[in-house]
Amino acid sequence: MDSHKTNELYEKFSHLYRERGAPLESSKMAWGFQCEDGWYKIIYEMSRQIDKISNDTDHAPAIVEVSKNEDGTLYVEARNLTPPVADIITGAREQSRLTCELCSYSPAFLRGVANNLEGHIACGRCVGKTEGPRKRKATKRRRKPLRPPDTIIVKRS
Ligand SMILES: [Zn+2]
Repeated sequence: MDSHKTNELYEKFSHLYRERGAPLESSKMAWGFQCEDGWYKIIYEMSRQIDKISNDTDHAPAIVEVSKNEDGTLYVEARNLTPPVADIITGAREQSRLTCELCSYSPAFLRGVANNLEGHIACGRCVGKTEGPRKRKATKRRRKPLRPPDTIIVKRS
């Protein structure tokens, strides 16, 4: 993620991201937010909700890693996890499943092989942007069948 957006999250939720300067053995937060800018709003909203139900003690939740799951969705690991915080994190993951990681447009889907955005959840426009006009024809034929659609319903707040 863009360093400006990263710093915004760190400043706004400094206690939640207090492990950002911790050594990598204890927290991967030193790597920053390991995803593209399109998920900034999802991460911001998730942070805001966790922050709202947390105090400022050492026992409060601390996010120690933000990266991606194998299915391309947002992965968030936290210390001092409580069930409500786990629910908020799960909600953010479900939102990311249909949100373009690059431009935040929804719907977006996980892109597979034969695609320049392989492993990213991306909208059609972002995929189109990375594909040259000549390559488009060739990739179409080689494209593997899409995975069956997920049946998870994303609740909008
Ligand atoms: Zn997009």
